[in-house]
This record gives sequence, C-alpha cells and structure tokens, in this order.
Amino acid sequence: ARPEAAPLNLAGIELRFGGVRAIDGVDLEVRPGQVHGLIGPNGSGKTTTLNVICGYYEPQQGRMALGAAPLPAGMPQKRAGLGIARTFQTPRIIGEATVLQNVMVGGSIQGSSSFFATLLALPRPRAEEKTIEAQARLALAAVGLEGLAEARADRLQHSELRFVEIARALMLRPAFLLLDEPAAGLSAEEIRRLGALIQAVARQGTGVLLVEHHADLIFDICDHVTVLNLGRVLASGTPADIRSHKEVVSAYLGA
Ligand code: ADP
Repeated sequence: ARPEAAPLNLAGIELRFGGVRAIDGVDLEVRPGQVHGLIGPNGSGKTTTLNVICGYYEPQQGRMALGAAPLPAGMPQKRAGLGIARTFQTPRIIGEATVLQNVMVGGSIQGSSSFFATLLALPRPRAEEKTIEAQARLALAAVGLEGLAEARADRLQHSELRFVEIARALMLRPAFLLLDEPAAGLSAEEIRRLGALIQAVARQGTGVLLVEHHADLIFDICDHVTVLNLGRVLASGTPADIRSHKEVVSAYLGA
C-alpha cells in the first residue's frame, strides 16, 4: 500500500557529475495536496533534482523518504510503483501511435497484475486493457483533449503534446507529480488552462513539484516555492516570501 498522505522528503541530497556539483546539499519537502515550485537560473540543478527523485540518478549523499519510509534505491519503475510520475522538458511521445495509445502507456506501468495474467494466459488482460482505455479517455478529458484520442500523436501541436504527457502521468493516479517546464511553448490561454489543471490535480491530494521558468505561473499557483542556485537552496517559502527575498530578487528575478 502507498503511504498516500506522507510528504516526499529530500535531505542533504548531493549529486556530482565528475567535478560538477549538480546538486550540492538540497533539502526539499513536497506535501500531498500542495503545489511546490522549483525555480532558479539555468544550470542550478532543477532537472537533476527531478531525475534524482525519479531514480534516474543515485545521489552520492543524502536521504529521500516518503514519510518515514526511505525511498528504495534504483529503477524509475519502482518509483512509479510508489506513485511518483513525471513529465519531461521535451515531451516523450510515440509519434506513430495514437494519442489514446500514448496515454494508455501510463496505465501499463503499474500493471504487474496484468503482467502475470498475460504469462498465465488468463482471460484477464482484455478486461484490464478495456479499463486502461477507459481511464485513458478520462485522463484525456481531464486535460481537454478527448476529441483527439484517435489522432496520430505526430499530428498534434507541441503544446498539445505537453497535455498528452500530463494525461499519461495522471494514469498512475500519482501521489506525486513532477512537471519539468510544462508551460514552455504554451500560449497565455494554454498556461491559464495548465495552471487550473495543476491546481485541480493538487486538490485531489497529489503533491506537485513544478519546475518552471514562467514566474507568473509559479507565483499564481504554488503553495510553496524553493529557489535553487548553484545546486543549493537559496530560499524556500511562500510565494510572498520568495518575491520579497533580497538575494532571490537580485540573483534570479532580476529587479
Ligand atoms: P537546471 O535544470 O536548473 O537548468 P540541471 O539540473 O540541468 O540544471 O543541471 C545542473 C548542473 O549539472 C549543470 O551544471 C549541468 O551542466 C550539470 N549536469 C546535469 N546533467 C548532467 C550530466 N548528465 N552530466 C554532466 N553534467 C550534468
């Protein structure tokens, strides 16, 4: 069972690539039901932080935990099994597949039961496939793309693919959703829609970690903001705290 209501905690996380300290002692707490913004200049360690949480990289120092339970080391699939889902800076989409199929992939990630059902040739997989398809249609409706379910994914605009990726991540019913610059390339209207969607997801109890350059979106929808600089936490607090933080304003927000 998932510890649904436990926060995701990072304490003293360090990750070096050779001589480069990509993250250098990061502490972070993402709470269920909250939107947590992660901002900072290019190269400050934001994407690396997401990669560490997802299990793509093992940190050399520090602890990660869901509540009191340490996150097991290793594979991204295991993190997905714990309910940690993500999207990428550049959407990772199978162009020749339909939009619906791309979203359904998110449902099969958790499907260890269908894995064994297939091996044992039980009649279950078809029923599960139908359920996954129904859920994928709901996920597409949630992001406003139900009308494009049967379209080939490579016919979609870049901005639409960002929403397809979010729909795929929602298939996990994630306890934590990590978004890497979801507003990049979106119109003002699409950003408003994205913001409303992220807040609705958080209201369902999901903890959202939002890496984003779009400062208005961060300050509009976040409950908490952490600012990274040179792989370290420069500031952490409410949007109001961060907006009035002297070093943040001079180092990053550029007033
Ligand atoms: P941000 O997302 O804030 O722009 P990143 O997390 O991508 O920053 O990068 C932080 C630092 O780590 C940068 O100096 C970057 O060059 C370095 N870095 C990130 N990934 C790698 C990698 N796979 N190999 C070597 N250096 C990396």
